[in-house]
Amino acid sequence: MQEQAIAWRQAGEDIGFVPTMGALHAGHERLVTRARRENQRVIVSIFVNPAQFGPTEDFARYPRPFEADRARLETLGVDAIFHPPVDQIYPAAFKTRVDPGPLAEVLEGKSRPGHFAGVLTVVLKLFNLAQPKRAYFGQKDFQQVVLVRQLVRDFALPVRIVAVPTVREPDGLAISSRNVYLDSPLRAAAASIHGSLDAAARGFTMGTTDPAELEATVRHLLEGTPGVAIDYVALVEDTTLRRPDRAIAGNVLAVAVKLGSIRLIDNVVLGAERL
Ligand code: AMP
Repeated sequence: MQEQAIAWRQAGEDIGFVPTMGALHAGHERLVTRARRENQRVIVSIFVNPAQFGPTEDFARYPRPFEADRARLETLGVDAIFHPPVDQIYPAAFKTRVDPGPLAEVLEGKSRPGHFAGVLTVVLKLFNLAQPKRAYFGQKDFQQVVLVRQLVRDFALPVRIVAVPTVREPDGLAISSRNVYLDSPLRAAAASIHGSLDAAARGFTMGTTDPAELEATVRHLLEGTPGVAIDYVALVEDTTLRRPDRAIAGNVLAVAVKLGSIRLIDNVVLGAERL
């Protein structure tokens, strides 16, 4: 992969890179389409990264429909699919890990210890293999975007991080590879995730700036939905991930919930549709 990528860069071609774990859906497609538009070459990686899953998480049963993914990517006109085996990324001699620091200890990082160390370690390696000028990430995983931008800044990586707005189902549910596990009552309940965020975002637009009140709007709506168990509801600043005294446009309202054994996350940016 790396030799091909270096040859493209030496020929003056920009590479757009989309890292994924496969089980591709319309959200991934949006990232690839954007990369296709903005670069001469597009590389998509499909790698279910063991380092970002906790011991009790769904690594083993994460869906891996590689042939369907390949067919989808071919119709989107990508130049290369990078689908390495685990021991190519983590050979026995692999030892170094990226320490993401304090921003990885809140929100997703608090619920999933070690998750962002695993994410940043693989992203750094994948960037070196794919040599991108631009890399595309979904705003659905907004803390991931914040931490990847921190990685790029801290290590002076010559990559521009592009955050792409969340693609949703008609009822507002953020599209996710894990949605296929929801049975029909839970799938119906899942619409309240975006519904509750949207209600709070409208509250902000109407003048509510108390973070506790905005969070409470989300909590009450989620608590009123059978089958939904809240992990966290948090209003945070988009770069520090701290709770502001007063909400302002650009702050992010983020939630994580469990529906049965399925954990889903989503967020909205107050006063805007994107980061
Ligand atoms: P994953 O395969 O889940 O690791 O996701 C790969 C990339 O796709 C990440 O940058 C995600 O944030 C992004 N992504 C996942 N779901 C969506 C969605 N519904 N809309 C936009 N981007 C998404």
